[in-house]
Amino acid sequence: MSRKKVALYIRKSREGDNGKEETLHSQQQTLINICESRGYEDYDIYSEVESSIKYDRPELLKLMKGIEQGKYSKLLITHIDRLGREIGLLDDLKKLCISSDVIIETPDTTINFQDDNHDLMYGFSSVLADFEYKRIRHRLATGKVNTVEIRHKWIGSTAPYGYKYDKSLKILVPDEETLPTYRMFVQLALEGHSFSEISDKINSLGISTRNNKRWTAGRIQKILKNRTYLGEAVYNSTRLGRNVTATDCHEPLITPEEFETIQKLSASRRNYRSSRDFGGKTKTPLDSLVYCGVCKKKMSIQISKKYSQARGHWHFYQARRCIHIDAETGVRCPNAGCKIDIIEEVVLHRLEDYKKRLLVKLQSLRNNDTSSAEADITQKLEVLNSDVKRNETRLKRLTDLYLDAMMEKDEYESRRKELMSNMDSIKSEISYLENKRSNLNVDHLEDKYEEILGMIDSYPEMPLEEKNKVMRLLVDRIELTKEGTRGEPHFEIWLMDDNI
Ligand SMILES: [Zn+2]
Repeated sequence: MSRKKVALYIRKSREGDNGKEETLHSQQQTLINICESRGYEDYDIYSEVESSIKYDRPELLKLMKGIEQGKYSKLLITHIDRLGREIGLLDDLKKLCISSDVIIETPDTTINFQDDNHDLMYGFSSVLADFEYKRIRHRLATGKVNTVEIRHKWIGSTAPYGYKYDKSLKILVPDEETLPTYRMFVQLALEGHSFSEISDKINSLGISTRNNKRWTAGRIQKILKNRTYLGEAVYNSTRLGRNVTATDCHEPLITPEEFETIQKLSASRRNYRSSRDFGGKTKTPLDSLVYCGVCKKKMSIQISKKYSQARGHWHFYQARRCIHIDAETGVRCPNAGCKIDIIEEVVLHRLEDYKKRLLVKLQSLRNNDTSSAEADITQKLEVLNSDVKRNETRLKRLTDLYLDAMMEKDEYESRRKELMSNMDSIKSEISYLENKRSNLNVDHLEDKYEEILGMIDSYPEMPLEEKNKVMRLLVDRIELTKEGTRGEPHFEIWLMDDNI
């Protein structure tokens, strides 16, 4: 059955809109011109002058009858409001267009109801009452929430750097071109470089953003804090008052351990270059890590120069006595300062203890053989993947049947829907198992622990800058409490990864 015919609908309201309304003739001419320019040769014209009786639109009803009979593939109007403003009628027309696959066209818009695109729906909203519009928007928001929450799919306008959007699979996939640069960000951040150091480095390599711009610390920060790289998808709907997050939506480009380490590193210090940091030299291994145990503010590190008969001139670095003043009471913090050497010794002692725990953990990781569990999952995955292939073949056969007119549309649609939902559940099972399998693989944890052990062992031989980097990588915060110059110092030390 050929459905090449186009329906043209023109209408003039009784009063006219301030006399500016197009006449029936000019509307008709506009639509005929469109038919010519778009190559629609076969068309019917429905023309009516709205009578004073409400809802009396005989031509529109005739047109709808024609649509119902499957005569038309398109409905052409000069403007969407030609269809009128009666919600009941519009709703009926919309349902008809959906069930009969009719596309509405105007000189500048196309409304295809099969396409769940909200911009197109927006065009239709101009003639829909506010509540109807809200209902549609609500449904679309619900659809997006479901896309993320139930179907585990990322939604967004631009794929994050390092990914590209696969339109047919409707998921993010790694982008071979930008992925290596993204991984470079991760590696540099894990090595303790600040966001600005990373952007400098990448710019110096001549690598620019996808829009050919220079990298900035802010851009790098945004990327390294984006959870999409963990395989997650997020959708915040203010309309529904819901924030949804889904995991396993696409291939992750960063491990959870790497992500967490980078967040801790960046939270523990300023990652933007401050004026003081700029060109500032590392003074001690504990720069930026010492805080006041009384008022919790950061303590400054300064050089102290001394002279004595016995030793002559000598100097040392110290965490300077706290100078912060309580905003409410106006009283200066009473905490005293301490030599950095003393603090460093305590921290190193603590790291030795940490090292012992790491070694135990590493040993248990190596003993814990996960190979049989892994093989089990791999076998399940093979079965599921062949299920996917079988379903794809079925789908293709089904489409062939329909295209060869061996099957009615209704039956085709319902069987296709069934196959698709079947496929969706198989695919989500696959991504669940793949994720489970990659979590069984502890190689990356072993690597990480070995790296930390190596750092602690070679610390004594490192130059000052390196020592500071290692400290910043391993230590989150050191709090110093000391009563008066002669008092005994007390330390509280938080390590970055203390739960080992
Ligand atoms: Zn203080």
